[in-house]
Amino acid sequence: MISKKDLELVELATKIIKERWHKGSINHTVGSALRAKDGKVYLGVNLDMDGMHSVCGEQVAFGNALTEGVTEFDTVVAVGYTGGEVTILAPCGSCRQFMSKYAPDIKVIIKEDGVLKKVKFDELLPHAYKLHLKRS
Ligand SMILES: [Zn+2]
Repeated sequence: MISKKDLELVELATKIIKERWHKGSINHTVGSALRAKDGKVYLGVNLDMDGMHSVCGEQVAFGNALTEGVTEFDTVVAVGYTGGEVTILAPCGSCRQFMSKYAPDIKVIIKEDGVLKKVKFDELLPHAYKLHLKRS
């Protein structure tokens, strides 16, 4: 069930990508908004590397939160924008694996058949890869 707070998250992701999407030779196309369990929201935009290993907007949002020491997350959303309509994006495979490590209890806002939905992370990546080595 999508709440008013979830819609605010979508609005924040939309606002940040519309503000940042085209800055000269730097061309961001994805904005993300991440709500921590304490209610604070962290934003991110993708870091395009001209076809090389780019960094996703969600991972930048998580990086901003993790840099502040925040490790408990509630909900995340990503939107794509290239100057026209904004599109709600489901997380890519890399982000799903990233979230399996950093936010396995998070909920993700996606759009399915034209309808916004909030899904539990394990619906997006069942049987996630886990490092089998134990660290001392
Ligand atoms: Zn991604």
